[in-house]
Amino acid sequence: METRKFKTESKRLLDLMINSIYTNREIFLRELISNASDAIDKYHYLSLNDENLEKRSDYSILIETDEKERTITISDTGIGMTYDELNDNLGTIASSGSSEFIKKMKENENDKLNEVDIIGQFGVGFYSAFMVAKKVVVETKSPFSKVGYTFTSTGEEEYSIEENNKEDNGTRITLFLRDNKEEDNYDDFLKEYKIRSLIKKYSDYIRYPINMNVTHTTYDEKGENPKEEVKLETLNSMVPLWKKPKNEVTKEELNEFYKSKFYDYKDPFTSINVHVEGAVSYNSLLFIPSEVPMNLYSRDYEKGLSLYTKGVFIMDSCKDLIPDYLRFVKGLVDTSDLSLNISREMLQQNTVLKKISQNIETKVVKELASIKEKDLTRYVEFWKNFGSFIKYGIYENYGSKNDLLKDLLIYHHSNGDDFISLKDYVGGMKEDQKKIYFASSSSKDSLNSLPQLELLKKKGYDVIILDDNIDEFALQVLDKYDDKEFANISSEDLDLLNDEEKNDIEKKKEDNKDFISALKESLGDKVKDVVISKRLVDSPVCLVSGEGLSFEMEKVLKAQGNQMNEGIKAERILEINPNHPLFDSLKNVYSKDKDQLKNYASLLLDQALLIEGLPLDNPLEFSKKMTDLMIEASK
Ligand code: ADP
Repeated sequence: METRKFKTESKRLLDLMINSIYTNREIFLRELISNASDAIDKYHYLSLNDENLEKRSDYSILIETDEKERTITISDTGIGMTYDELNDNLGTIASSGSSEFIKKMKENENDKLNEVDIIGQFGVGFYSAFMVAKKVVVETKSPFSKVGYTFTSTGEEEYSIEENNKEDNGTRITLFLRDNKEEDNYDDFLKEYKIRSLIKKYSDYIRYPINMNVTHTTYDEKGENPKEEVKLETLNSMVPLWKKPKNEVTKEELNEFYKSKFYDYKDPFTSINVHVEGAVSYNSLLFIPSEVPMNLYSRDYEKGLSLYTKGVFIMDSCKDLIPDYLRFVKGLVDTSDLSLNISREMLQQNTVLKKISQNIETKVVKELASIKEKDLTRYVEFWKNFGSFIKYGIYENYGSKNDLLKDLLIYHHSNGDDFISLKDYVGGMKEDQKKIYFASSSSKDSLNSLPQLELLKKKGYDVIILDDNIDEFALQVLDKYDDKEFANISSEDLDLLNDEEKNDIEKKKEDNKDFISALKESLGDKVKDVVISKRLVDSPVCLVSGEGLSFEMEKVLKAQGNQMNEGIKAERILEINPNHPLFDSLKNVYSKDKDQLKNYASLLLDQALLIEGLPLDNPLEFSKKMTDLMIEASK
């Protein structure tokens, strides 16, 4: 017999499991049954193409209880585990998310409450046994190992593994229930009715029979002479949830299925039940989580849907079933259009999968669009979690998904506290308004202080607020909505003036030609141009970008830390407000003291940079000039 220590992270997890006030401890049964079912799936799949594996059709999962010993046993006829697999699978936290898990656990070191949430988000299935058991014994035999092994653990520091003489392939897990305490009674789990109800509730759809020996009492005609008879009974209906007619599947069933299959402790945000017959035929269950999966942004997140062919499990996370931008969608697909012995490599170029994937993409988008129509508040919940992915979908497809996705977009906007869709924005445009205006800003408050907004505000135009790094890039790909162009309020000509106003500006340009040239000259190559502003009302100056890159894009690209982006710079154009008193003061300076104008010009530019959130070339110089100016002014 060999005794080993659990890896440290597993130890922490065990402690959490055991000590957490996890109210949902009954899920241990569904976790173990689900593992058993997966193990049978694996055996079956392998046996299709491996001649050394006996073909079977009598797969089953058996549940036994012993009230005297206070044990529950779950046995399966699945693939079992070799010695190494036992160590790897049960001696460490399984699940791919383990490193994320540890990180999260450390972040929450002092935060007991969150532990439960954390547990729920990982594939810690097997460990849930310790919520009800003080000792767990796993007897297992793999067809790839000559002998079987027994793993024993009390969920403390160590576990042991020793050889056994189990002959048939599969796994048998025995739980020795914890001692009852006043507030914690575990004996219920030994009762037939409890097991029955748990299986009905959580595991009804499992495709293999879950059997239990049930004692029936029969009486003679007179109702006397009771006789006890033990019969093997199958407790689940075995119809996979996705094969059942839609109207026979309850929301609760879908929710429970989702939670157990995809390790979430929360109900999904929405579930989509798809039955398609036609060019391709498939059934699918799709789920959108109600929270961002913890590892969604990490490298080891595996996107994709589980794939079944004619009810036989082929693989988890089949990438080709879902486009990249919908990687947060979980679910499964069962199709009759793929051959059972298709290799996983072949799957990649498979046209059936392509068709299914396109079909699924449309279904998901439709569902989202319908939620958005019916209940915007609910849609916003989704949007806050996964909105970036939809924008990413527009961006990464160079325009090919514009039509599909454009109506899923919603934005904060300047004329309201809620979100607005592009459709509603365009619907609410003022009569003389030609473009869809947007501004990059982290919040409405900071938007409101932007000088560039002044004239738009005066005209009552709404401005959509972009607060996500990907926003501007996505809009650039979207190009237009409903034939209306997008215009960044901090770049481009906004096309806001009527003819009279335009003439007025032209005249001012002409009258101040020399002065403006002098300003530009004094700023040298720090700006591309200095112009008389057509958009400022109250502020003296603002900075806008020229064609192409905007300031926001400059910031995003720079923040990526990519050397290639280092020299990237949006064109800087300084706009100056001809109706502001400062304009005349500057002109005054210009006519009296050309050197002083240079200082003023540099101060103006620095102010404009600060408002845009862009770095100053030389903060020290800025401060010195300000100081000099204050001294001068107080003389
Ligand atoms: P997960 O199911 O998320 O992988 P678990 O902790 O439930 O996490 O199980 C860890 C691993 O142990 C499984 O992936 C599987 O390889 C193995 N395993 C668990 N139960 C069984 C079983 N009944 N038969 C064979 N292998 C099993």
